[in-house]
Amino acid sequence: METDSAKQIHAEFPEVSSRPKHELFNPDISLDNIIAEFSDLKEVESNLESIVAAAHELVRRHQIQAEFFADKAQTLLFIALAHRLSEIQHLPQEQRQQDETFINSATILLTLKKSGHFDELRESIGSQYIIPEETEVAVYEKFTNHQLTAELMQAIEKGMLDQVKQRLGITVDNESPYELKVLSIGDEFSAHGMQPHVSQEMSEDYNHPDWPETNINFDLYKEWIKGLEKRKEDFGAAIGRPGDVPLAWITHLGNRQFLCLPQPFAEKLLHPDQQRAKYYEDADRQRDFAILEHEYVHTQNGLPLNGQIFFGMALEERRAELFSGDRQGYGDIKAFFSDLEVINGFNIKEFLVNTKTKEPAEVYRDLAATIGLQATLELSLITPKAYVSETRPLQEAIAVYNSKSTFLQKAYANAKEEGQTSEIKQRARVRAEQVAKSGIDLDMWLSIRSMDDSSEAVTQLIKEALIAMGASAVVSAGG
Ligand SMILES: [Zn+2]
Repeated sequence: METDSAKQIHAEFPEVSSRPKHELFNPDISLDNIIAEFSDLKEVESNLESIVAAAHELVRRHQIQAEFFADKAQTLLFIALAHRLSEIQHLPQEQRQQDETFINSATILLTLKKSGHFDELRESIGSQYIIPEETEVAVYEKFTNHQLTAELMQAIEKGMLDQVKQRLGITVDNESPYELKVLSIGDEFSAHGMQPHVSQEMSEDYNHPDWPETNINFDLYKEWIKGLEKRKEDFGAAIGRPGDVPLAWITHLGNRQFLCLPQPFAEKLLHPDQQRAKYYEDADRQRDFAILEHEYVHTQNGLPLNGQIFFGMALEERRAELFSGDRQGYGDIKAFFSDLEVINGFNIKEFLVNTKTKEPAEVYRDLAATIGLQATLELSLITPKAYVSETRPLQEAIAVYNSKSTFLQKAYANAKEEGQTSEIKQRARVRAEQVAKSGIDLDMWLSIRSMDDSSEAVTQLIKEALIAMGASAVVSAGG
């Protein structure tokens, strides 16, 4: 299956040997030396010559500029793409079409502005490239609430984020700079829990003496939200991405990274002891705080390449969750890594803890040495559900044959080929014990798994293990 945009990209580069009409290739790029730097990786060492040849081909096709290779994490993934191209080059056209589309799409997303085709492909890459960066920076500045930004910054300086910094191994000496921006925008979502408090007595008695004042407060609250919502719409329109905003996010513009929060959310974080709506409980407070911690993790040695969401997002979200206490979402990514562990024993948490203070370039290198160069490339391109969007056609084109389930399928086939069958079963048993302990009903467990693009083989193994264990969870599901 191929989407229209995948076809378009393929049409852009019909022949492997075709050369661009104008030659932008910089003869100063010494691909031999650049690639030889990675020959500690076994795939590179044993295919050095063919990788170099394919790398030249990719540089020509995409008119990649020399500066691209200054970033070693990007270079490593580029080498993985060249390796893949070298492996398929001998195949007839029909057989290599999917791989060609994958390689070309991924190369475009990897090289972005360092590619000669960037301008003509802007819209296939993503809507975020339609507005110039300087304009976007100006919009962020315009919508910044300076007072709340200063207050939150002060709270952070006084230790608000010390625990997450400690977990990450971040000190004043190794902290990466980021700019905090509390934006004067918002909605009901970011203001969750900020509705005026209604006591138990009041909710049982409409004539309670506190009602008149509370009603006024409700009106004020509604006005306040209306104003913030209007500004949220203006903000979205100004940056060219209308719609809802998250509770916190990171954005990279030029060489700057912004940690952004809508105003109501920042106010909740700044005043955790203030009385909130009755439904807003301690667990909500903790979750809100974990979101700030999660976002802070993204500002330090983040794994997404170019500060964009095309490479490294599954790894990065797993990392942010791990170091912020694994409280909130990304269930699909957690399930994915947990399946991968059953399949080949790769423990993402251990890996992330061991690489936590390393630069992204080193982390990618470690990953390639651990799971292999091609698996590193494919894993880097896996998109968490929350990031799947029609506004990024190239990313969608890649996802067609680089989904979580295809990745797990390949890993399973590899592990079996390596003779790991009994280890896989053993790890599935360990997982089955955890499932049984959680007390979840088998049918419920199966239905949750069916929603998450998970590994069918792993589902089957865990199900068998559960049935063999005769766990109470299984009994209730009637086998
Ligand atoms: Zn995140």
